[in-house]
Amino acid sequence: MNSEVTHSKKTFVLGAGITGLVLAWKLAKNGYEVIIIESSSSPGGLAKTIEWDGFRFDNGAHNFFTYDSEVLTFYQELLGDKFRQKARNFKLYIFNKLLKFPFLGTEIITSLGSIKMINISISFLSARLKAFFVGELETPHLDEWIISRYGKALYRIYFRDYLFRVQKCDPHLLSSTIGMKKIPKMSVRKTLGEIFRKLFLSSPVSKNTSKSYYCKHGYGEMPMYFYRELIKMPNVTYRSEESVQNLTINEEKITSLKTDKHLYNTENADIISTIPLECLCKFTNPEFEHLTALSQKLQYVGMRFFHVKINKPSVTGCWFVNFNDKRMPFYRVGEYVFDEFDMLPEGYSSLTFEIPVNEGDEYFKMPDSELMPLLIERFNIVFSLSIDDVVGYKSVFSKHANPRLTLDYQDILKEIFNFILSIQNLYSLGRQGLFTYANLDHCTRMAFDFSKHYLEGSPKEGNKSLLNKYFHSGF
Ligand SMILES: Cc1cc2nc3c(=O)[nH]c(=O)nc-3n(C[C@H](O)[C@H](O)[C@H](O)COP(=O)(O)OP(=O)(O)OC[C@H]3O[C@@H](n4cnc5c(N)ncnc54)[C@H](O)[C@@H]3O)c2cc1C
Repeated sequence: MNSEVTHSKKTFVLGAGITGLVLAWKLAKNGYEVIIIESSSSPGGLAKTIEWDGFRFDNGAHNFFTYDSEVLTFYQELLGDKFRQKARNFKLYIFNKLLKFPFLGTEIITSLGSIKMINISISFLSARLKAFFVGELETPHLDEWIISRYGKALYRIYFRDYLFRVQKCDPHLLSSTIGMKKIPKMSVRKTLGEIFRKLFLSSPVSKNTSKSYYCKHGYGEMPMYFYRELIKMPNVTYRSEESVQNLTINEEKITSLKTDKHLYNTENADIISTIPLECLCKFTNPEFEHLTALSQKLQYVGMRFFHVKINKPSVTGCWFVNFNDKRMPFYRVGEYVFDEFDMLPEGYSSLTFEIPVNEGDEYFKMPDSELMPLLIERFNIVFSLSIDDVVGYKSVFSKHANPRLTLDYQDILKEIFNFILSIQNLYSLGRQGLFTYANLDHCTRMAFDFSKHYLEGSPKEGNKSLLNKYFHSGF
């Protein structure tokens, strides 16, 4: 399809995160009339860089790393010199030790004392032997899934606390699909070999030096590129600070869309949503109330990003540090220094503490002025930072930071998506729209694949194939 064509049909794109923006840009370039509705005052969604008195802060340390060469080339060509390689200079604080990237599972284990290592080896080996003779345990519970594959000792020493801290939930209530999707497989030979080498030979683990990408002025430049292009296009309307409130269905079609500012007639329009499902599934029709209630059962882990300006050129000496230690309310701290990425003035550095929160819990409610000294005190267990070096701080909340994959999430999603697929002019994709742990490259790929189907006249097939890719059961 060429860019001269103007389509009579309107397309509403809900949400201006990376998925919505790339998708809107693809459709607008192909002549569609696109109306983007975004609740926030600025675009970018989860991938936003905020500016504050000459400092730029990322909401969560992002690095762009992908195996998708088409997506990589796309950003290299569009963003040019702004999109640069950045060394994966990360650290992990665990068992009172600071490890450097890559954090190999075996290296983490071998940083423990000898008794714990022997304990882990025996428990890991017996779990693998059991799986070999009896078969892998199929269980919906994440804790049981991990124990059956990695042994009780490793679960107790490592996984249990980590999951409690990051998911803010008992791992027994989480789905084993998290294990399948997020926990890398550990080979028996390699793991036990590394433990043996560490115990008896003290030989080091090999390091890799792979690169990832980052943008000058912050990764928020990725969504900002599309935003700046879109608002120049005559066939695009960008409505910010406008929140989708509800949808009305008539004969398997969304006939109107209501926001807090307008009522849109959508009889002759498509609605492509990238907003959280709980915000989308609010239907005025009483017969669909159960879907609204169902979508509200999907849980999220919120995140409090605590940004700190520091009157010192560097604190941690790396891009970000993961903390796996009960004493720290934060699970990761990102650092920016004065360099080619131009995030802050010379002589300063900045830190962003990422604190997983449930609405209403201690670290959700604590005022910034109380939280700041607490964070610095805990941070000082590992790094040295004086409160006198802090020249400014503030926190930003994200309610929908990470989907929490509870035991029933797949049943809920299945019912919601079967419904969305049955509505002629409604589609849902993106990290929020599919309720999945997708990264920036996956979201870009979703926008590519869906827009291709859309332009070729098979959008339902496009939505189905994304569901099958990101969600285990068949649609
Ligand atoms: C802490 C953290 C760290 C991450 N690190 C990385 C990383 O290192 N590398 C990487 O590749 N990815 C990373 N990600 C993932 C990445 O940020 C996301 O994949 C991506 O930003 C999701 O884009 P999206 O457009 O699908 O969703 P979102 O960015 O969530 O966009 C949805 C948009 O919908 C809007 N919206 C919501 N409700 C409404 C409503 N009712 N009406 C109108 N608009 C609404 C929101 O304001 C938002 O702008 C990280 C994510 C988090 C939370």
